[in-house]
Amino acid sequence: MIEIFDDRRDKYANDRFQAWRRNNPDGFLLNPKSPTKYQLHSVDCRHLGDSANTRDDYDESLTAKPKDCSLGVEELERWAEERGAAVIGYSHCIEYEAE
Ligand SMILES: [Zn+2]
Repeated sequence: MIEIFDDRRDKYANDRFQAWRRNNPDGFLLNPKSPTKYQLHSVDCRHLGDSANTRDDYDESLTAKPKDCSLGVEELERWAEERGAAVIGYSHCIEYEAE
């Protein structure tokens, strides 16, 4: 199942995203780099800071750019493909080879 956390849809998206990270430590997320390229990260990516952080710990909301989360990389790949986007990697926080 894909969970979407997006400030444009939900003013509590940042807090809900952080809760999802805490509850799904083995999960993954897509961060949009452009409309056709989404970058894959693990939920414990250090660039996102600690999952216990609140909105006040950041200058900008973590979900100012929508975050698409799932427990499965393949599900996220299909999700991106359906939207005409490619998943890019290797990322710094996960071993992933783009096709
Ligand atoms: Zn990362």
